[in-house]
Amino acid sequence: MRKHTMGLLAMAAASTLALSACGGAEVGGEPEEGASAGGDGITIGIKYDQPGLGLQDGAEYTGFDVDVARYVANELGYSEDQITFKETPSANRESMLQNGDVDMIFATYSITDERKEVIDFAGPYFVAGQDLLVAADNTDITGPEDLEGKNLCSVTGSTSAEKIKTDYAEGVQLLERPGYAECVTALAAGQVDAVTTDDIILAGLSAANGDGNLKVVGAPFSEERYGVGLPKGSDRCEDINAAITKMIDDGTWEELVAANTEGADYTPNADLNPPTPDACA
Ligand code: GLU
Repeated sequence: MRKHTMGLLAMAAASTLALSACGGAEVGGEPEEGASAGGDGITIGIKYDQPGLGLQDGAEYTGFDVDVARYVANELGYSEDQITFKETPSANRESMLQNGDVDMIFATYSITDERKEVIDFAGPYFVAGQDLLVAADNTDITGPEDLEGKNLCSVTGSTSAEKIKTDYAEGVQLLERPGYAECVTALAAGQVDAVTTDDIILAGLSAANGDGNLKVVGAPFSEERYGVGLPKGSDRCEDINAAITKMIDDGTWEELVAANTEGADYTPNADLNPPTPDACA
């Protein structure tokens, strides 16, 4: 028991030292492969449960965000084997950047003023819109104005949950879950009437889980500009924006969108895509 406690203390001390020494992603004194800032590699935050965007499938990582992350990392001088992917759930993204757990995040991460107070963004590299996922035979929910008296599921720490709480709080029962896949389970089980988040996320989930029994309403009610999350004061923003611009100009962006939305009933809003990156802070 005593030994165990000592071991934990020593581990805590070691990791505190490691963190203060280089801000790297070392846990319990064990350096991770392709460790963070200071090492040779780069640690990139992605989603693990969003088909078509960021999905962990065994040792494979797939999706549009993952492909964009690989392209950008490559432009920054990192080869594929220097990249370590790490899961960054919606609610943990800012803190994981602040703690040095990840070097950059590509995870359907909307650029917002509130988030910009604590982290920086490069991009945007894509623009989605908040929408609703309902049962295929549902006819009474055609947009957010029909949510009165309904049970809705969204994810903690997302702009989607935030928007429901600020704009549609009256009469809507909001169930918050750590990830969208849990919300789809709740919808399939009839525990909620709808799931709300970005249309591209809902399209991917519906294609992967729905057996045709779920549908995206198709009436987006926000603009979600996906940025690359960076620690505050990062010097990578300009280079990332240059990489995004190159990716759009050389046709890769279009190819990646097409490849990752294949089989999903989804077309990006052509008025807003592809976007032009914002000036860096
Ligand atoms: N794009 C929204 C956000 O950044 C919703 C999707 C997500 O939770 O990743 O909050």
